[in-house]
Amino acid sequence: MNDFDAIERVYASHLNSGNLLAIKKLAEQAFRMPTDNYKLQGKALASWSKVSAHMVEYLSRPKDEFRKNQLLKIKCLVDNAYEKVPFYRELYDACGYEKGCISSFADFEQLPIVTKAALSRYDASAIVNNPGFLESANSSRTSGSSGRPFTIYSDDDDIILDHLQVMRFYNSCLQQPLQKNDWIYLLHHSGLAFSSLHGNYRTFQLPDLHASTPLGEHLLFLRPRVLVTLPSYLPLILEHKSALKLSGVEAVLTNSESSTQLERDYYSKALGVPVFDEYSSEEIGMIATQCAHGVYHVVEDGVYLEVVNTDKSGFGTVLCTDLNNELMPLIRFDHGDVARKKLDDECCKCGSMSTALYEINGRKDDAFRTRGHQLVPSASILAAVDDILITPDKTLRSFRLIQKSADSVELLTQYSGAIPKNFSEIRRLLQDRLSHLFGYQVGLLHREVDELPETKSYKRRSIVREWGLS
Ligand SMILES: [Zn+2]
Repeated sequence: MNDFDAIERVYASHLNSGNLLAIKKLAEQAFRMPTDNYKLQGKALASWSKVSAHMVEYLSRPKDEFRKNQLLKIKCLVDNAYEKVPFYRELYDACGYEKGCISSFADFEQLPIVTKAALSRYDASAIVNNPGFLESANSSRTSGSSGRPFTIYSDDDDIILDHLQVMRFYNSCLQQPLQKNDWIYLLHHSGLAFSSLHGNYRTFQLPDLHASTPLGEHLLFLRPRVLVTLPSYLPLILEHKSALKLSGVEAVLTNSESSTQLERDYYSKALGVPVFDEYSSEEIGMIATQCAHGVYHVVEDGVYLEVVNTDKSGFGTVLCTDLNNELMPLIRFDHGDVARKKLDDECCKCGSMSTALYEINGRKDDAFRTRGHQLVPSASILAAVDDILITPDKTLRSFRLIQKSADSVELLTQYSGAIPKNFSEIRRLLQDRLSHLFGYQVGLLHREVDELPETKSYKRRSIVREWGLS
């Protein structure tokens, strides 16, 4: 047994009695990522020691320098996709692409836009560069916020790099970088790829938060430096304000749901610690992160980001090209998000020259509300859908959940074949999870449809609230 195991046991045993038992019970519901194994943790730790300084320095370089690197990567990525991925071969052949013909971003930006809907029409083997690798590849299947189930495949190097980018972001929010024995507290349904790096940079994950959860007490015991959460939990966190401050938490980080700068400023002031937001997606990973001046900076060594088809006020569709996923290339990929890009090339007050986004409006979903008008986090609902509907069955093509009243929700599904035999059981499980999230019993009606009705909003909505609109 090494020192880290001994420390781990002290922390774990503290949760076995008194109030903190509630924390233990909640934490046990967290889903551990399949990537979270000793071998990959070790590789990530070795990379972090080797490249973290370089990664920090990279983002402060002049723009033309990282653009040059991006273009080199993009050329290889596109040629690799064209040669080895049937989906791209077909797509690019149709527009007359020839290998090696990209010599500028203007060339690249002529390539067709790729959507999740288009990729979903193909077998997994036709959207990766090496079908033989699919069995052993890391995969995550998700409902996303578009209501269309989708599997993303990536290799170990990509998983590790994404994790290092997350750690770099945490450090950018702190006065001093994380030390090896620091805790990261995740108040979030989704964990990181690694729960620690061989006992260093440990994370503690609570997948949910209730009014009765003794969060403050646990924060005082664990003394994490960073708290990562959904914006929906900020009001509940505020109830533990003094414990949070006393525990030494230096920054609160939000992601997965949209929140406004106004909201974050409010909570930052009320909690007495800065709140930073992150724009990321299941498909791409980290896309942009906020600096101390509230500007979202694109993670230029992970993604090439374009904002296209802009309207008069500058809002346009976000297209992302993942620079590091060669296994399943996502090139000019459209999530359905909308953002406004800062146009001038001026350096941000924080010193960063990377692409700056002012507002990201993509995640404006119609979050459900309880009869007392409390927000039910959309991300928690989508996590329930992922667990119950999406993960066990691959024939669900799309779905939508509609809140009809304070205590009734309708589920629309579109299966590619027959509805699963055990659907009544699935419906009951989902109804129980929803009731749990609402805090009281809600009814769940189900309707199988040939096509989901179009919504008025820009993005396909998987969560729609028709009740209690102001
Ligand atoms: Zn900045």
